[in-house]
Amino acid sequence: MTRTRIFSGVKPTGHLTLGNYLGALRGWADEDQHRADALFCVVDLHALTVEHDPARVRRLSRQAATLLLAVGLDPRLCTVFVQSHVDEHTRLAYLMECTASDGEMRRMIQYKEKTERERARGGSVRLSLLTYPALMAADILAYGTGEVPVGEDQAQHVELTRDLAVRFNQRYGQTFVVPKATVPKVAARVMDLQEPTSKMGKSHARTSGIVYLLDEPDVVRKKVMRAVTDTGSDVVYDRAERPGVANLLDVLAACGAGEPAELAGEYDSYGALKKDTAEAVVELLRPVRERHAELVKDPEYVDSVLRDGAERARAIARPRVDAAYRAVGL
Ligand code: ADP
Repeated sequence: MTRTRIFSGVKPTGHLTLGNYLGALRGWADEDQHRADALFCVVDLHALTVEHDPARVRRLSRQAATLLLAVGLDPRLCTVFVQSHVDEHTRLAYLMECTASDGEMRRMIQYKEKTERERARGGSVRLSLLTYPALMAADILAYGTGEVPVGEDQAQHVELTRDLAVRFNQRYGQTFVVPKATVPKVAARVMDLQEPTSKMGKSHARTSGIVYLLDEPDVVRKKVMRAVTDTGSDVVYDRAERPGVANLLDVLAACGAGEPAELAGEYDSYGALKKDTAEAVVELLRPVRERHAELVKDPEYVDSVLRDGAERARAIARPRVDAAYRAVGL
């Protein structure tokens, strides 16, 4: 029996966060790479969908790739690469644009949210922000992916990818595997510590509510201790009514301390909960920071991993993308 193929990625639009780690990267390293034939990617083309600075994108791509190794992805077990190194992504993205309708693209929640943000800044909206899910579908479908491990915020895009795969297969003959999203049980949506009704997102302007993977321990402590909590002082797990406290409980639980609702019963003050959460996060991130510090001393190693990764990825993607071109009549 062939092993399940897994594909997932991370955008170099900012420094990677605790949300990225708990919602995605940790599962890739601790579970996915061991149980499946997995590919993990820095999806740098997606960073161009909003206003960007070329030097910053290059620096952040490099940092994200190094962090993928620092969280424990092992190139002997899985394939780690950068999206723009493999042309098959953009080749297939065009066929996906020819499969999708503009209406389904416009319905994507992230498109609506990001469009509002860009317009509020007075900027224009890049067309690629609308077509982003077609490229994401191509990223996934090029590899015959069965599972896409993502945080909750990406589930809608994976749903669209499924629809496009089914539609393409119906129109042109069986070409793509229809993938499904897998979302972690706890911390699938880590919220901003200062604004616990919105997700902790790496490209948000205000950084005090975001824990970055490379934050120093004291910075992590400060951010968690200053997290916005809710009115009242009793610790209960209620994501709708008490989003601030629920978020801390989710994070603490995801650090390995148990179930969020049960943990709530162990605390009678917000202060104690914050203190334990801060320490748990510091310990969780410590090995990642340490491995990252080692890896930046060896840029040739990181380069060689990415070079091999791109080669492996290309070899997997090319036959399927070629087959898709033939299927549509080219
Ligand atoms: P970002 O929103 O930080 O730019 P990406 O789109 O690069 O994130 O996502 C990388 C992975 O991290 C995706 O699987 C995404 O679902 C996950 N992720 C991003 N933010 C969070 C969050 N706050 N909580 C849980 N998972 C998240």
